[in-house]
Amino acid sequence: MVIIIYKGRFIMKKIGIMGGTFNPIHIGHLIAAQEVLDKMNMDKIIFIPTGNPPHKSKREVISAIDRYEMVKLAIKNNACFEVSDIEIKRTGETYSYDTLTELHNIYYETEFYFIIGFDTLKEISTWKRVYEVCNMTEFIVVNRGNSLKEIKDEFLIKEKKFNCKLTLVEIPDIKISSTDIRDRINNNESIKYLVTNDVEGYIYQKGLFKVEFNKGL
Ligand code: ATP
Ligand code: MG
Repeated sequence: MVIIIYKGRFIMKKIGIMGGTFNPIHIGHLIAAQEVLDKMNMDKIIFIPTGNPPHKSKREVISAIDRYEMVKLAIKNNACFEVSDIEIKRTGETYSYDTLTELHNIYYETEFYFIIGFDTLKEISTWKRVYEVCNMTEFIVVNRGNSLKEIKDEFLIKEKKFNCKLTLVEIPDIKISSTDIRDRINNNESIKYLVTNDVEGYIYQKGLFKVEFNKGL
């Protein structure tokens, strides 16, 4: 842990937490994280792939290790990006509440900001101990093809309901999703430039998504 002392004062570190299934990680995640890093003057962004995601059907989600390895490959050239295995090491379902509690215990003098896309903001009511999560962290919300009006209306609803602190960081709309990438693989369509070269190589080398999808459907 690094504590920066400037003119005799402690400077809090600002860390962005980018949680996700990353099934697989794509350039939308990377661009969003970089925009937040720059615009919010963060020190770093930690990507935290989920272990056993509570909100997703298990059939569609590949192993946590493969998702973690792909995040590692995708961020390897960015000194301000890190990946954490904090959630994939946990047994049972993983929740942001537990992750934040663990991070607060590991890092001193650090402000955590939870980076989420607008679609995730709409779902926070379903999160475990959401009121406590809102107390522990601020949310940085990025647009995902949504109008400013839609975002502002949702902010008012959520701020009123959860008393949460929300900040919008506007990013170029990136209409890419992991679902779309999985569909493309399954339809033998290219995923070039939607994921990094290394991630593309990893997916094909291990035959990810395609086989998994054909089973049981
Ligand atoms: P899936 O289609 O499987 O749900 P996804 O593309 O939404 O995948 P997630 O791993 O679910 O990816 O997303 C992790 C976080 O990144 C979420 O908060 C989500 O809103 C955000 N996010 C994902 N894709 C984008 C994007 N293109 N632009 C902005 N935010 C994004
Ligand atoms: Mg999603």
